[in-house]
Amino acid sequence: NGSMATTENSERKIITGEAGYVLEDVPHFSDYISDLPTYPNPLQDNPSYSVVKQHFVDVDDSVAQNIVVHQDSPRGRHFRRVGPREKVYFESDDVHACIVTCGGLCPGLNTVIREIVCGLYYMYGVHKVLGIEGGYRGFYARNTIPLTPKIVNGIHKRGGTILGTSRGGHDTSKIVDSIQDRGINQVYVLGGDGTQKGASAIFEEIRRRGLKVAVAGIPKTIDNDIPIIDKSFGFDTAVEEAQRAISAAHVEAESFENGIGVVKLMGRYSGFIAMYATIASRDVDCCLIPESPFYLEGPGGLFEYIEKRLKENGHMVIVIAEGAGQELLSEIMHTMDQQDASGNKLLQDVGLWISQKIRDHFGKKRKMTINLKYIDPTYMIRAVPSNASDNVYCTLLAHSAIHGAMAGYTGFTVGPVNGRHAYIPFYRITERQNRVVITDRMWARLLSSTNQPSFLDPKKVKQSKEEGKLDTQLFNHAPKILNN
Ligand code: ATP
Ligand code: MG
Repeated sequence: NGSMATTENSERKIITGEAGYVLEDVPHFSDYISDLPTYPNPLQDNPSYSVVKQHFVDVDDSVAQNIVVHQDSPRGRHFRRVGPREKVYFESDDVHACIVTCGGLCPGLNTVIREIVCGLYYMYGVHKVLGIEGGYRGFYARNTIPLTPKIVNGIHKRGGTILGTSRGGHDTSKIVDSIQDRGINQVYVLGGDGTQKGASAIFEEIRRRGLKVAVAGIPKTIDNDIPIIDKSFGFDTAVEEAQRAISAAHVEAESFENGIGVVKLMGRYSGFIAMYATIASRDVDCCLIPESPFYLEGPGGLFEYIEKRLKENGHMVIVIAEGAGQELLSEIMHTMDQQDASGNKLLQDVGLWISQKIRDHFGKKRKMTINLKYIDPTYMIRAVPSNASDNVYCTLLAHSAIHGAMAGYTGFTVGPVNGRHAYIPFYRITERQNRVVITDRMWARLLSSTNQPSFLDPKKVKQSKEEGKLDTQLFNHAPKILNN
């Protein structure tokens, strides 16, 4: 195509066309090994697919990152659309795939494993699929299990991951050695931000060695903190499960004089679970998230609001995301610099902290009887099997990853962008985190549904708005992203 230009460095492949069209492409084997795919896609003869109107996706179809456009706005960034291609890069008999899960638990891991195995078997007739046990280190330090549709059949009804998982460091070149020794040529990696960075490094090493091994990432984060994609799998399930904890807190709070229910939900840097659970439940009087700084004492502070709600209503429910208010805690705690095995900063338990602060304030200072119950449902939420919508979503992710790897794409991750699934380069999802934007409409909807204070100085908001700097100014005191 004469109007297209491709620029490429070791990481980025960007294709620009007319009218501001920019395709942020993922790597393909043809970039570093040899020619384009040559084998006819076995789906051609697949009875389930023979009825599909558009049998194969046009290789040049892309998905737009922005769909709300102004009449003069450029067409913006695009990503390559997922789906089966007419020609594939691997012959089914030659494929030896493996699956690994890393990082913390999240509902849906087993569903993705199941659908990768079944998809490879039933769509592409691939019969060699290996499960790597215990995360990245499993490649060289643990056992492997052969995966068949029979073995994975009912696993989506169980929480966790049948392969086991781990955090903490690993050795990229040992992993690639193991991939080479075992003759693996498709690697499916399920995991969070750390895992995707690891997958990107594995891909780079594979490309450096010139191997025909596809690396496909399936992004996992219960917090929904992965950018670009609409939402991450397990998130819906987590929000649904969080309702149960909020309901319990509400029942407890309602039943006692000045009852206060405090529920801590996941969300180290992003308060999506807390925000959506709050909006969904309608039993919550106050939702605190990392993106929205708050304060306790004085006019417009949390204590004042609690007292008001208790007077009006006799009880209240507070939802707090695990990363909220960390800047308040850090003043009194000295363990802020501790890290977990993967180098993530260890956060203080904000739920315990805020519960104690509320008890001290109302019991000691205000001499009020309050009945506070604190619920931390984190591990219960992470361990449940995925719900119906996440199961459907996980199936799409798994199939998209398979189609991409079969077609010769590599070093990519998959996910929905404005509702259409796309192949996204690793760097796009690891270079920043998705966070709740407190100047967006969704947070305004929450504030108007709970009626809680915004904890922002109205004068400062007005001034920032006039200066056209609303976002930057309000985020100045939000906690920095600590994960990188
Ligand atoms: P989550 O945080 O959602 O539980 P995660 O994938 O971020 O998931 P981590 O424990 O951070 O979980 O990492 C999992 C694996 O990824 C570990 O084996 C670790 O070695 C590897 N990893 C973490 N960070 C990086 C990085 N920056 N570069 C390469 N590999 C990494
Ligand atoms: Mg992580």
